[in-house]
Amino acid sequence: MRFNTFLIKYAEIGIKGKNRAVFEDTLVRQINRALKDCEGDVKAYKQPGRIYAEAEGDCDYDEVIEALGRVFGISGICPVVQLKDEGFEKLAGDVIDYIREVYGADCAKTFKVNARRARKDYPMNSQQINEDLGERILDAFIGMRVNVHDPDILLNIEVREKFICLYSITIPGPGGMPVGTNGKAMLLLSGGIDSPVAGYMIAKRGVRLDATYFHAPPYTSDMAKQKVIDLARIVAKYSGTIALHIVNFTDIQMAIYEKCPHEELTIIMRRYMMKIAQDIAAKNECIGLITGESIGQVASQTMQSMMVTNEVCELPVYRPLCGMDKQEIVEISEKIGTFETSILPYEDCCTIYVAKHPVTRPSLAHIKKSEERLKDVIDELYKTAIETEEVLHISGSGK
Ligand code: ATP
Ligand code: MG
Repeated sequence: MRFNTFLIKYAEIGIKGKNRAVFEDTLVRQINRALKDCEGDVKAYKQPGRIYAEAEGDCDYDEVIEALGRVFGISGICPVVQLKDEGFEKLAGDVIDYIREVYGADCAKTFKVNARRARKDYPMNSQQINEDLGERILDAFIGMRVNVHDPDILLNIEVREKFICLYSITIPGPGGMPVGTNGKAMLLLSGGIDSPVAGYMIAKRGVRLDATYFHAPPYTSDMAKQKVIDLARIVAKYSGTIALHIVNFTDIQMAIYEKCPHEELTIIMRRYMMKIAQDIAAKNECIGLITGESIGQVASQTMQSMMVTNEVCELPVYRPLCGMDKQEIVEISEKIGTFETSILPYEDCCTIYVAKHPVTRPSLAHIKKSEERLKDVIDELYKTAIETEEVLHISGSGK
């Protein structure tokens, strides 16, 4: 017995009227994107109140479940067996085979049959199907009992135009909203653990992503850059294609290093990163910034430091990890598959010139004063950094 169809469940709260069609159409598009590389030509389609993904040929069950598990907006995946309508006797035999295969020959669970007919000319009504099938199941399995209120197994039987669908398992989906039902935001993506998780979390709310990475060659290597590209590719498996903007930050960083107090280096650098990311965001229809900051994690992420960093931002800055402990962030990064790449030991431009005692309570006035020391060079350096950006379009597909 093969599962070649998957009923897609989605949370319906808040998707009424026109929003509902947008939500469903976007979800179908995102499912098709995720399934593009799967064997068996699996495609999603919409029916009134339902979304299915169906394989033309033989599909690889695990591969399809894994791909669907990366589509935000899906709350549950029900693998469906399609049966030909060859009379009730055949149906009853198939249902018994199904229970044996899925739950074992000595299945002793409680169950309920839940039949529905999309095709009203089927010779039995739903109640008759429930009763007659229930009886056959009781005869076939000594240990099984009916429980109509809270069954272990809810056997759904749907009589459709061309075939009869049978399903009883629901595999949890990732939840969230389909990517594309909200705007686009610019993720500041470093090679660390936090920022890929931050991107994942905002994409989960239906937001498309662009990303900006600041590198500092020759102080940061091509390996460090490749690591960020690899991380973007993993995040893109969930979010869809990411335009990754790679900005050469070396000269700005050197100027700050030469002219500003060393304990303020990180804060001043972070302010320029935010500013540049914001300028690139504005040119690319991004209406927010995303960072992997978490309150108190390091000196540049105390509330006082974040207030000073944030002062240069006009766009909203989304910091989905701000209330999380490192361990909680690590758990998500392991779940989404970025952890192994994030912990590869390549240098980040933030780590090459860290002061021994960075300020933890920077004063905005003081930082602004320090930044004045850059005034002769910064405009030119800033312009060059933006003009020389390299853009890579990173898709999550391909094996
Ligand atoms: P991560 O694990 O994401 O690298 P972190 O704990 O190392 O974060 P910081 O280095 O202080 O923290 O950076 C805080 C945030 O600033 C990062 O989560 C990321 O959003 C952004 N950021 C830091 N370095 C870079 C970089 N080189 N390019 C782009 N964004 C960066
Ligand atoms: Mg970092």
